[in-house]
Formats: sequence, structure tokens, C-alpha cells
Amino acid sequence: MGLSRILPRSRPVADEPAADELVAEVEPQPESAPHLRAVPAPEPAPAAEEQMMAKIIAFANQKGGVAKTTTTLNLGVALREMGNRILVVDLDPQGNLTMSQGMNPDAIERSMFDVLVHRVPISDVIHTVEVDIAVASIDLAGAELSLSALIGRERALEKALVEVRDRYEYILIDTPPSLGLLTINAFVAADGVIVPVQCEYLSLRGLVQLENTLAMVRENLNSKVHVEGIVPTMYDGRTLHAREAIEILEEHFGDLVYDTRIRKTVRYAEAPVKGSSVLRYDPSGPAAQAYRDLAKEVLDGAQAREHA
Ligand code: ADP
Ligand code: MG
Repeated sequence: MGLSRILPRSRPVADEPAADELVAEVEPQPESAPHLRAVPAPEPAPAAEEQMMAKIIAFANQKGGVAKTTTTLNLGVALREMGNRILVVDLDPQGNLTMSQGMNPDAIERSMFDVLVHRVPISDVIHTVEVDIAVASIDLAGAELSLSALIGRERALEKALVEVRDRYEYILIDTPPSLGLLTINAFVAADGVIVPVQCEYLSLRGLVQLENTLAMVRENLNSKVHVEGIVPTMYDGRTLHAREAIEILEEHFGDLVYDTRIRKTVRYAEAPVKGSSVLRYDPSGPAAQAYRDLAKEVLDGAQAREHA
């Protein structure tokens, strides 16, 4: 069924337009002058790689209901528990991520729509709940149309995140169930993409289209973006079908498939009703633990790549 075509390609692209746009400028180190020895030396400017720059991860799958929003929030809260500063960004006009932190997208005055279309600073739409969250409102639905007429329409999110990128360890972006301009904006801003996949055969087929879109973004807009990992969600180990779906995933994606299986449980649907992550709603339950396990894998994966 041609799934091998989805395997990530990491071919470097020579004419990538603005790869260095986001590289922070390092303060030039003052020459040490012997006659100033008595004065305490200034703090050394951090080397470029030590400077804190959030890793940006988009959560994408054009299929709805595969746990993109659930994974963005709960992985974010799990990474926060481990001491990381986290921003989650709600880029879905349905505003489910915003709702799952107890806010009403219909009652929000300024949202990611204003950030993307009117260039409002993203810090103006960040609320602090369990993690920091840049909120969505219903008018985000008009963003694709409004953006489409603008020059640099694919880079609006990337530009907006520059303001806050040094304040967080991770910025996690929840995307709508489509591969439209909002999701493209997330791919352009991101270092990596995590794909939640429901453990069903039919859910796997959409991955080809996702990877084709990602390849297009790599060639034209962001040469570094790649599939960071695949999270099997809504796993029911009692069914042969779910086990087979995982087998197919692993056959085609190998190590990209995380070992953590997010099992099917009603806890994940109950928590957002309370405006809460599952880690706050049921801290010691297996549903919360699953996202802590995934958080460890995501951190380990990032480290493995750094030392590769
Ligand atoms: P998406 O953002 O991909 O549309 P959601 O995260 O909103 O998906 O999840 C869709 C629905 O499934 C929500 O009601 C959510 O609470 C529920 N859900 C998410 N993960 C699980 C799971 N592991 N088991 C059972 N239900 C889940
Ligand atoms: Mg969603």
C-alpha cells in the first residue's frame, strides 16, 4: 500500500530561503583588557548552543479524533512536571485545547487569529493555567482566508514565536484536522512533528499524505522539519486489529514509533470537561502515567539526536 513512501527523507535542501532567520545573535565577547583586571569579569556570553531556544514540536494528523489535542496538552503537562517551561499553542479554530484548560473560545477577545493576521504579539494571548497556553477563538476559522492574501503567509507563526522562543524549553503546537495553511504554518515553525495515530488500519493510510505535505514544506520553506515520532493512541490491546495496526506501523516506521502505547480509556474524555489535563484530574492513574512515559521518550529522543 505504498507506506514505505512515507519514510522520512532528510535530504538537505540547498536553496532554503531563511534557515538562519531564527538563529539568535550571540553577544560579542568583549576583548579582555589587562588594565581592567580588578573589575569582576562580565558573565561570559553563552555559546550559541547553550542559549536556551525552545524546541518547537507540531502535533499533526489531518484525521480528526486521533488525540492530537489530548496529546499536546498531556505531554505538555508531563514535560512541565519534569521541570521544563512549556508553551502550548492552540492553532485549531475549534479551540479544543483552549477549552481543555477551562477557557471558552467563544468568550476570548484576542487569540491566535490576531497574532497571525494582525501581528499582535503572541505574549498578549498567552494565559497561564497548568502550562502557558496561546489561545484560540472561533474567529481563527477565518485565519486561513485572511492569511492567504498576505505575503509570507506560511511564516506568520514562525515570526510570532521569535518573541517567546527563549522563554521555554518546549513549544507544542496543536493543529486542526487538515493540511491547510494553519497546519503549514505549524510545519514551517517546527523543528519536528509528532503524529498521533489511532491504532486502526484505516488511520495509517493518511500518513502518506501527511508525509508528502511535510516533504513539500522541507523543500520550500523549512528544510529541518521532520517526523520526530509517532504515538499510537486509543490502543486496545485486547483486539487483534489494534495489535496488527501497531505491527504495520513498526514495520514501516521502525524506531519512529514510540514504545509508549496510549491506551483507550474514558479518563482522557473526562479530564477536559473539568478544564484539566489527565495528570491533574487523575494524577496517579495509568492514563497520566502513559503521558509521563511518553514525555521521557520524547526527552530521550531529543538527547539521542543531539549526541548523534
Ligand atoms: P484530535 O485533536 O485529534 O481531534 P482529541 O484529542 O480531541 O483528538 O481526541 C478526540 C476524542 O477522543 C476526545 O473526546 C478525547 O477526549 C478522546 N480521547 C483522546 N485520547 C483518548 C484515549 N487514549 N482513549 C479514549 N479516548 C480518548
Ligand atoms: Mg484537536
